[in-house]
Amino acid sequence: MGFRAALIVLCAIVASSVPPPLAAAPSEALPQASSAAALQHVTVLSQQIGPRPTGSPADGRTATYLAEQFQQLGYTVQRQAFPILFFDETAPPTVNIVGPQAAALRALALIYSAATSSEGLEAEVLDADLGREEDFRGKRLEGRIALVQRGQIRFSVKVANAATAGASAVVVYNNQPGPPQAGTLVEPSQIPAVMISQDDGERLVQVLRAGTVRMRLNVSTTIERRTSQNVIGIKRGTRTPNEIVVVGGHADSVRQSPGANDNASGTAAVLEAARLLARTTTARTIHFIGFGAEEIGLVGSRFYVQNRTGTIVGMVNMDMVGRGPMQVGNSGGDTSPLDLAERVASRLDITVSTFRLREAASDHASFEQAGIPAVFIHTGDDEAIHTPADVLNRLNPQLIAQAASLAAAIARELATR
Ligand SMILES: [Zn+2]
Repeated sequence: MGFRAALIVLCAIVASSVPPPLAAAPSEALPQASSAAALQHVTVLSQQIGPRPTGSPADGRTATYLAEQFQQLGYTVQRQAFPILFFDETAPPTVNIVGPQAAALRALALIYSAATSSEGLEAEVLDADLGREEDFRGKRLEGRIALVQRGQIRFSVKVANAATAGASAVVVYNNQPGPPQAGTLVEPSQIPAVMISQDDGERLVQVLRAGTVRMRLNVSTTIERRTSQNVIGIKRGTRTPNEIVVVGGHADSVRQSPGANDNASGTAAVLEAARLLARTTTARTIHFIGFGAEEIGLVGSRFYVQNRTGTIVGMVNMDMVGRGPMQVGNSGGDTSPLDLAERVASRLDITVSTFRLREAASDHASFEQAGIPAVFIHTGDDEAIHTPADVLNRLNPQLIAQAASLAAAIARELATR
């Protein structure tokens, strides 16, 4: 049923039960997004709360903050709990080259890495290229440590291949400059696995070409079952409440990073979009969601999709919207959400470009994989993410406000059809 007809029906009802009037027709402008409000949210999340890995006390404080913000805006709040496997480094891992030349390398344990014994382990190192199956073919590692480069296949596959070939541990070196970044193994690994920097890795490869290298590794980690949550601010639809539009972004960060761009920026944009639509009435329901556990494998958004209570007609995801050119993208399966996003952006005078993203890089993928059309609002790569350098003063709050305006306008359009 079209908008005009709906209006007539609505007027008829007014006589009888005084339903709330439609606050704003899609053509009417939404309130102005505030970069000051966005900045305030990023300050609370990335500075006052700080690193908020899933399942940690900071993760809980983040959920409380989101729930309070949604409540203050007048939304009904649901905390959707789900089980997770909590991971933490009990102590920073140590990677020491014993010989030919002693050196201590900076390292991070990959998420869900097994621990070494408390004494650690010492073994020869073997260069295993990218850690693909063919890179181990015909090689028996007999307890050696496999050195592999990041890229092409998932960390978990490299580590499983090395374990199958008899390695006692895996050292992954980054394929981009800068400090080591924490990646996830998605589930507990058989053998310890750490990440070192590109520089250290490439230097090791050189030394290995000239002779043997011995390394001592000490990894101490905690892996336990805990609970995390999605925090949902609910705007109930007036006509088809079981049809849902989702506006979301993940609220967790990795444990080494305050996560200003990844993803306090997206979370702030979700809260600001919720503020912009707080007075708008929509035919369909809108769920504003701070997803939990994205950094350990999109766990929160997958749980939400698998336990959905209605028909999700569209999803807007915001992840890293604080630094770089504004872009809208998705996996390319269904481009209609991108067409809508471009149309809305031009109406709002926001310059956007489009992109395609095959890998499941963020929460929109959980929806697309279930056949739900999604648009991913993003401002591009940022070498500082997942490191201590991902801090507030690198961001542009106006970009976050722009992302919030765009998301709010897209959601309203989808929710008033
Ligand atoms: Zn992210």
